[in-house]
Amino acid sequence: MLIKFRKKDSKNKIKLLSFLRKNQGLAKLKFICETAAEIEELSSGKASYMKPLIEAIFPQAEIHLSNEELFPQTLKSRFNLPSSFEIIAGPCAVEDRKTYLEAASFLSSLGIKFMRASLFKPRRSNYCFQGIGEEGFEIISEAKDLYKIRTVTELLSHCDLNSAKKYCDIIQIGARNMRNYELIKSISLLGKPMIIKRAQGASIKEWLMSAEYAAVTNKNLIFCERGDSGLFNEGGVNFNLAAKAKKEFGITVIADVSHSSLGSDYVEAGVLSALAFGLDGAMVEIHQNPQKARVDGRHAISFKQFEKILEKLNKVKKCLKN
Ligand code: PEP
Ligand code: MN
Repeated sequence: MLIKFRKKDSKNKIKLLSFLRKNQGLAKLKFICETAAEIEELSSGKASYMKPLIEAIFPQAEIHLSNEELFPQTLKSRFNLPSSFEIIAGPCAVEDRKTYLEAASFLSSLGIKFMRASLFKPRRSNYCFQGIGEEGFEIISEAKDLYKIRTVTELLSHCDLNSAKKYCDIIQIGARNMRNYELIKSISLLGKPMIIKRAQGASIKEWLMSAEYAAVTNKNLIFCERGDSGLFNEGGVNFNLAAKAKKEFGITVIADVSHSSLGSDYVEAGVLSALAFGLDGAMVEIHQNPQKARVDGRHAISFKQFEKILEKLNKVKKCLKN
């Protein structure tokens, strides 16, 4: 914790110093540098728990926390995927039993181990398809039994957490909910591995701070970069940001290469980029008939296109090994 303080404000500084010294663990407080003529910086070691108290008593102080203080648990959180580059694929949403089982059969025949299994869709418009909801738990359960595939389901606040615990393998916190801290806290208690997507516009620090709400109780975290594209902008997947987050913090990071792709034509390059950037995997939306998809048909790729991407991916993987 770094406390910046105005030099001129010596009365308050003395008050703050004696307050900090009185509190256990803070005796080692020392001045570390003088940045500007006006400002003094005090370092009090790892004492982030004191921040709200210090802020309340000394509103004049400007307090900065280190990464270890901001997200101590997240730095210890890492879900190891089975291989060094894992693909999570599937339709944007489970639409009905027949098409979902067909997709599960197709993916398992290609050796894919993780399948999207979204039942609750957070949509911008109230009048768009919102997902088939809880009736879909049975469908995903059947797919798991038949094809031994693990499922990834995004949860929203209104869904039945008992069923989620029973039927879902990995729980996704969508980009919109990266800032829904209460949801993150309650989902993490299910004890399932969690994918936490980066909200559009969020920095790495903010992303990890959100994850910290989960990491306190659940260390099985996967971070998913999904790009900044939204209704009014076309910011693609930020591979640099994703790679930096992985490298600096040692976390598991995958890229959702569909939602910010701006169209199915760019999904292949997205998958290969995720590999090239050294990420842990990619998430891809597929559909047997993208034009008829109930949601996100614009960027969903057909089964055939997906097979081609996997072929190319395997070739590139081989080249990179040599
Ligand atoms: C999704 O993966 O289904 C989804 C809604 O993505 P995002 O939260 O990234 O928009
Ligand atoms: Mn989608």
